[in-house]
Amino acid sequence: MDANRFMATIIPVTDLRAASRREALERLVRAAATESAHVATGELLDARGRPVRDLRISVTDRCNFRCVYCMPKEIFGAEHPFLPRSELLTFEEITRIARVFVGHGVTKLRLTGGEPLLRRNIERLIEMLAKLGDVDLTLTTNGALLAKKARGLRDAGLTRVTVSLDSLDDATFRAMNDVDFPVAKVLAGIDAAAAAGLDPVKVNMVVKRGTNEASIVPMARHFKGSGHIVRFIEYMDVGATNGWRMDDVVSAAEIVRAIDAELPLESVDANYSGEVAERWRYRDGSGEIGVIASVTQAFCSDCTRARLSTDGKLYTCLFGTDGFDLRALVRESASDVALGNAVAAIWRQRSDRYSEIRTAETARASKVEMSYIGG
Ligand code: SAM
Repeated sequence: MDANRFMATIIPVTDLRAASRREALERLVRAAATESAHVATGELLDARGRPVRDLRISVTDRCNFRCVYCMPKEIFGAEHPFLPRSELLTFEEITRIARVFVGHGVTKLRLTGGEPLLRRNIERLIEMLAKLGDVDLTLTTNGALLAKKARGLRDAGLTRVTVSLDSLDDATFRAMNDVDFPVAKVLAGIDAAAAAGLDPVKVNMVVKRGTNEASIVPMARHFKGSGHIVRFIEYMDVGATNGWRMDDVVSAAEIVRAIDAELPLESVDANYSGEVAERWRYRDGSGEIGVIASVTQAFCSDCTRARLSTDGKLYTCLFGTDGFDLRALVRESASDVALGNAVAAIWRQRSDRYSEIRTAETARASKVEMSYIGG
């Protein structure tokens, strides 16, 4: 597929109304960037009163898996034009933008992608981000390279790690990652992470009907008592390439019922407001699980997440169609004050609540891909 056609698939062609909204935002942000007063607000609220607390940073749009629900081979094949190196934010640029967000109240930074462990010298970026102060510095990975890298990540200053694993059944997992990758190597990565002190490890399992719902209870049973926390995730309509249908979603309620029938559960209060996963613990005291019900129980009202794409666009919603080009500001030598004011202007006008207004219609609309915006 040629680059232009691909961009039209991945970065949607927006309609005129969206284009004029984008221009208005561009003007607003550019004006904010020329104000001279320093704005490190400490707490920045959007148009719905939601603070910014988490920044998810996509460090690469490349992945060594081709999960059928995320980067299907038919779209992300050998011909696929991934971003060239010059388009990626450098580690210095990422750190600079992250520092601005920390000044606005962000306490959690998550590296993601694509597969973040594919970004060369990722440990160096972690070292740089770890110096930003009292932030929870985490990373989401498919685990393929974790056994080799866990110790170095920990030494660089990573606090925790989340590993994606959609089934313990080898045939099911190999079919879902679509590169024939075995379960055992991901389990070895989880063990290495725990041994390196990156624990408790969170294990993310996306549940897709007809594909891996038979793996729910075995997954819960396997990690029960291990100290690691499995989080079962409802299959979402991110992007435009995975052919999402509501019928493919196994609801969080159904997931909890299936586990509870064999391994009795009781609900637990959230650790903090805005926590994505709903928590459940085993009645016998042997640990907990989480369910992320972003489709059936939207949690937009307390969403505190901002996302920085691989090429430096700021998205204020996972289901966004448009991001603001922070890289342009950075590469035009904007000062920290200018950058801080620009970020503040973007966040203050944020009113996204996609999951609350999702319909079959919106699910079909063009949205950016998760591998580009960061999962
Ligand atoms: N490569 C890393 C990994 O595998 O964890 C990080 C990026 S991946 C996009 C982040 C997470 O998003 C993974 O746990 C993946 O399963 C999840 N994900 C991707 N597409 C999804 C979808 N349509 N619905 C729900 N979760 C999805």
